[in-house]
Parts: sequence; C-alpha cells; structure tokens
Amino acid sequence: MVPLIRTAEQCYCAICGGPFERPRFGPKENPFSPSKKKGGNGYNPDIISKKATEWLVELRILGYFYALKQGFISGRGQFFNVFSGPGSIHLDQKDPANEQLPNLNYSCYEDKAGAITIFPFHETCYKILAKVLYPDEELFTAMTRIDLEGLHSTMRYLSNRKDALLIRTGLETRRNKP
Ligand SMILES: [Zn+2]
Repeated sequence: MVPLIRTAEQCYCAICGGPFERPRFGPKENPFSPSKKKGGNGYNPDIISKKATEWLVELRILGYFYALKQGFISGRGQFFNVFSGPGSIHLDQKDPANEQLPNLNYSCYEDKAGAITIFPFHETCYKILAKVLYPDEELFTAMTRIDLEGLHSTMRYLSNRKDALLIRTGLETRRNKP
C-alpha cells in the first residue's frame, strides 16, 4: 500500500481537488519513512522535483459579485492555512488583475448570500479545463471563452461552503491527515 501524502490544509482546488500548499519531500533514501525531523511522509525528490510542484501554490479565484451581477477571475494569490478555520487566500497586491477587486483577503469557499462567493483553483487547472472545453482554440482564446457565470453557478451548486466541492476527487481520503 502506498502511504498517503499529507495534506494538513483545509482548502482544495475547485477544479482538481488538490491542495495549495507545497508538498512535503521525504529523504531520498526512503521518502515514506516517518521522520519527526522531516515531518513524516513525503515525495521522493528523485522522482518529483520541487520545481515541478510549484504550480500547486499558484492560485486564482473564481468569484462573483452579486452587486455587479458579474463573475470574475482574480489575479494571482496564495493560500495560508488557518488551523481553526477554512484557511485564507491573500491576493497579490502587485498583480494588476487584482486592482479591480474590493479586497485582497478572502476565506476559502466563502459564500456570503447576496454579496460574494469565492472558489479557489490552480492556474494550471484552469488552463487544462480551457483546453479540454475548446481543444481547437489557442490557449488564451480558450481561456476567455469559458462561461464564468456558468462555471460559477456549477461550483456554487456543488460547494460544501467550507473547503471543497462535493465531487469525488480523492481528497476525502487525504483530508485532515497531517
Ligand atoms: Zn487544481
């Protein structure tokens, strides 16, 4: 049996169900050996490089402002684990795409009735989704063709309003196993 990769966080990608934190890497000799110093299970750096996991921390938000009746994709941000809550998302102040937003800090899967909803996702996952939906288009065109309001209403319908969508991505077997 392959040991589970730890995911202590409380927030997962609305597209792939993966985490937003950098994964742990174990010692090369035995990456799965429990080690108090290293924090236990992790990836073997000989098989998966740290650089190859950088996409995990590049997140954006699909949100919806009810006052404007408009969906939006934020600029880049990062996830921060909050042990007593669902975790928080801090958008990068330097990213011009975030200037349109009223706030730079949001809670994971925030859903304030009639105000705003927040769905975090990996930037890479959005690109893959765009290419799957519009395989004959250039990537940028494919990304702009995604119906944000349609995607938002689907995610809202499936949201557990806490840390993920109610779809079987495998995260349910990894959740809360630090
Ligand atoms: Zn993802």
